[in-house]
Amino acid sequence: MDIQSTFEMLDKKFTGFGGLEQGGITRLLYSQEWNDAVRELEKTFKEEGLEASFDDIGNLTGRLVGSKYPEETILTGSHIDTVVEGGHLDGQFGILAALVAVKYLKAKHGQPLRSLEVLSLAEEEGSRFPYTFWGSKNFFNLAKKSDVDTIADAEGIKFEDAMRKSGFDYRKTTDVRNDIKAFVEIHIEQGKVLETENKTIGVVNGIVGQKRFTINLKGEANHAGTTPMSLRRDTVVAYSEIVSNLTKRAREIGEPLVLTFGHITLVPNTVNVVPGEITFSVDCRHIDQQILNDFAVEIEDKIKLVAEANSMTYDINLWMDEAPTLMDKKIVQIIEQAAKNNVGNQYKVMPSGAGHDSQIFAQYVPTAMLFVPSIGGISHNISEETKIEDLVKGIEVLSDVLYELAYKE
Ligand SMILES: [Zn+2]
Repeated sequence: MDIQSTFEMLDKKFTGFGGLEQGGITRLLYSQEWNDAVRELEKTFKEEGLEASFDDIGNLTGRLVGSKYPEETILTGSHIDTVVEGGHLDGQFGILAALVAVKYLKAKHGQPLRSLEVLSLAEEEGSRFPYTFWGSKNFFNLAKKSDVDTIADAEGIKFEDAMRKSGFDYRKTTDVRNDIKAFVEIHIEQGKVLETENKTIGVVNGIVGQKRFTINLKGEANHAGTTPMSLRRDTVVAYSEIVSNLTKRAREIGEPLVLTFGHITLVPNTVNVVPGEITFSVDCRHIDQQILNDFAVEIEDKIKLVAEANSMTYDINLWMDEAPTLMDKKIVQIIEQAAKNNVGNQYKVMPSGAGHDSQIFAQYVPTAMLFVPSIGGISHNISEETKIEDLVKGIEVLSDVLYELAYKE
C-alpha cells in the first residue's frame, strides 16, 4: 500500500465536502457539507474493515479490534469541522492521516494486540456557533445542554435545530469511556517555527498556558506647548518604558516565552495634549507554569515601579489565567523516537502556541501530539498548505507511534 497515493485520494474526496472554487473548505458543524462528510467517512471506515459508530452528537469512530487486549484502545484523530474559508488540512489531515496509518498497519501487520480507533470529532473551531470543543467536550461528558440550548448561528438557526436536522441529539449517557489508553493527534503546525528551522516533524510536549492582563495608568493630561518635560506625567512615556523593558526581559528569558502588547487606548488621544491616561493589554504565554507565573510577577512589579516613578496611579487586571497542558511524557518519547527513526535530526520538540482537542483529552487520558510544517505558517486560510513529502513523513511517524502503542506488549 502506498501511503502518499492513498492519502491524496482520501484528501481529494473529503476536500469535496464544503470545498470552495478558489480552494480550501468551509465545513461548519451540522451543515449539509458537514453531514455529507461524516456519512462518507462512516462509509469509508466500513470499506476499510473498521467498525464504524457515531455517538449521540456526531463524533465518529472507526475501530479495528485488538486480538489480545481488545478492551484497551489506542485512539487517534482530530476534528472534521473547519473555519469559514479554511484550509484542507486543519483537522481533516489529523483524521485522514490516522485512517491511512491504521490501514497501512493493518495491511502490513494484521490485527493489533490492542484496539486501534480512528476518531473524527464533530467540532473544535467554534466557527458556526459561539461554542468551541463541542466534539471533545462531549467525548468526556463535559458539555452541558445549557451551554448550547439558547445559542444560534449568524443566520438565526438554533444549535439544537441544526443538530437534530443532521440526525444527532444531546448526549444521553453520562458514562465516560474508560478503555482509552492513549490519544495521539497529528495536526499542521499553523506557525512558522518548523519551516524556519527546516524541520519536518514537531514533537509537541505541551500546549502553552497563557495570562492576559488589562492595565490602566493615570497620569495627567496637559497642554503640549506649555508643560515643560520635567513637569509631565505622560502615560505614553511610562507605557514605552514598560514595553521596552519587559520585551527585553522576555527575550532574555528566551523561547518559548512570548509577550504581546496588542491593544492600547489613549485618553484624550489627540495631537497637542500630553496623554493623561492609557489602557493597554498584555498577553504572555509559556509551556512552564513556574516560568509563566514568575514572569507575571515581573510584569506586575515593573508596572508598579514605573507608575510610582512617574507619579501615576495604576490598575492591573489579570482576567485570563490558563494553565499549560502537558503531553504524556511516555508517548512524547515514543513520538520523538519515531521521528528520529524517520527524519534523523529534522525534528523539534516544541510546545503548541494554539489550542487543540488534545488539551481536553490530556486532562483524562495519556495524550500527545505531533506537527507537520505549514508553508509560510499560514492557516485558517484557503492558502493553508504543507508539502506532500512532509504530510507523508507525518503519516509514517504516526504509523510507527501507533505500532508501538497497539502492536507491542
Ligand atoms: Zn485544528
